[in-house]
Amino acid sequence: MYDVVISGAGPAGSKCAEILAKSGFKVALIEKDANWRKPCGGAVNSRIFKYYPQLRKLNFHRINKMTIYSADYHKFGYKWKEARDYSINVDRLEFDNVLRNIAVDAGAELFDKNISYDFVIKNNQKIGVKTKSSSGIQEYRAKIIVIADGMSSKLAIKSGFKKKWKIEDIMLAKSMIMEGENNIDKDTISLFFKPFKGYGWLFPLEENKFNIGFGTMGEDNLKYNLNQIHNEFINDPNIKKFIPKSNFKKIWEGAYPIPGLGVSEKSLYGDNIMFIGDTAGFVNPISGEGICPSIASGKAAAETAINALESDEISAQSLRNYKLHPTIRKIARSYKLTLSLLDFCFENEGQNFSKMCKMAESDDNFRESIVNMFLFSKAPPKDFILKLNSEN
Ligand SMILES: Cc1cc2nc3c(=O)[nH]c(=O)nc-3n(C[C@H](O)[C@H](O)[C@H](O)COP(=O)(O)OP(=O)(O)OC[C@H]3O[C@@H](n4cnc5c(N)ncnc54)[C@H](O)[C@@H]3O)c2cc1C
Repeated sequence: MYDVVISGAGPAGSKCAEILAKSGFKVALIEKDANWRKPCGGAVNSRIFKYYPQLRKLNFHRINKMTIYSADYHKFGYKWKEARDYSINVDRLEFDNVLRNIAVDAGAELFDKNISYDFVIKNNQKIGVKTKSSSGIQEYRAKIIVIADGMSSKLAIKSGFKKKWKIEDIMLAKSMIMEGENNIDKDTISLFFKPFKGYGWLFPLEENKFNIGFGTMGEDNLKYNLNQIHNEFINDPNIKKFIPKSNFKKIWEGAYPIPGLGVSEKSLYGDNIMFIGDTAGFVNPISGEGICPSIASGKAAAETAINALESDEISAQSLRNYKLHPTIRKIARSYKLTLSLLDFCFENEGQNFSKMCKMAESDDNFRESIVNMFLFSKAPPKDFILKLNSEN
C-alpha cells in the first residue's frame, strides 16, 4: 500500500512525487514510457531554477532574448541578460528523465512501461490505479491518487471529473527537431503570430540543432491542417532567412494537443484524488507555456497531500486546499485574464496583434508585460488592457 500513487511521470508528476518522497511518504510513480519524447518546443523559463536549482549545473541551452513577430512580420525584441535570470531550451526526452531521476533519488518508486487505464475500486471508493505492463495487469493501491498523465489521460475521463476535450477547447501543436547550418540567433527564441489563431516558433538548441513548430487554437484547429501549415511555415520565405539551406536532417517530429481554456477549476480534486499539469489545464492559453505551471501544480498538490496524510483526512473537503493553494489561485487568475485577451489578439486578421507589437517597440512597460504574459504566464496589469483599449 502506497501513500500516494501518481499516474504520469511528466514534469508535473515527477515534481509531485519528489516532494512527497522527500517528506518520507511512500510514492508509486507510474509511467507509460520513459523513452517517449513529449512533443514540445522545450522552452523553459527561468522559474525552473526555483523548482530545480540543480539544473543550473547541467548544460541545457541558455536563452536570454525573445523576438515576437506579428502576422505582417512587424517584430519587437526583448533582451533580459543582466535584468533577469536566463531561461533554457531543452530536449524533452532528456529533460523529463532528469526530473524523473530526481524524484527517484528522493525515494519515489518509478514503474516504467506501465499504462494506467482504470481505478481499483472498493466499496464505491477509488483505492488505487490499475496498469497494463508486459508482465500483465498490476494494481497500485494508495491513500491518495494523483492524475498527471497529460492530455491523453484515460483516468481523468474514468474518474467522472473530466469530459473528453472538445477540439475547439484545445491547441494542436507540432514540433520538429532539426539539425543543420542555420542563421538562428543562439540566444533568442522567436514566435511568429498569424492572422488566424495560430503561431509558429523557432527555438535554438545546442550545436546546429533547432526546434521548429506550429500550433493552432480554438475553432481554427478545424480550419487548418496542422501538418500542412507546419510545412508551409518551414518553407515561408521569412523563415527561410533563418534556415536558408535545404540539407537539414530531421531528428524527430511529433504532434500533440495542449489544453486551451486555462485551469479547470471545477475539477481539480475530489475524495482522495487530485489532477495536476496538463490534465488539469495548467497551460498558458495564448503561448502554450506549460512546463513550469505544471511543475507548480505538482508542488501544490504534494503540499496539500502531505497535510492531508498527516492529519489522516483525505476527503474532498481536505483536498480542496489544493484549489485554494495561493500558487494555484494565482495561475488560475492569470490564465483567466490571458484567455480574455485571446480573441482580441487574433481579431482583425492579426491587426490587433500587430498594433500590440508596435506599441511594445516604443513602450518598455508594455513590452515587459507582453514578454511576462508569453514567457512567464504572468497576468497583464490593468494599465496594459487600458492602453490596448485606448489604441482601438
Ligand atoms: C507541440 C507542443 C509544444 C509545446 N511547447 C512548450 C514549450 O516550449 N514550453 C512549455 O513550457 N510548454 C510547452 N508545451 C506544453 C508542455 O509540453 C506541457 O504543458 C507539459 O509537458 C505538461 O506537463 P505534464 O507533466 O502535465 O504532462 P506531460 O508532459 O504530458 O506528461 C505526462 C506523462 O504521463 C505519461 N502518460 C500518459 N498516459 C499515461 C498512462 N495511461 N499511464 C501512465 N503514464 C502515462 C506520459 O508518457 C508523460 O510522461 C508544448 C506542448 C506541445 C504539445
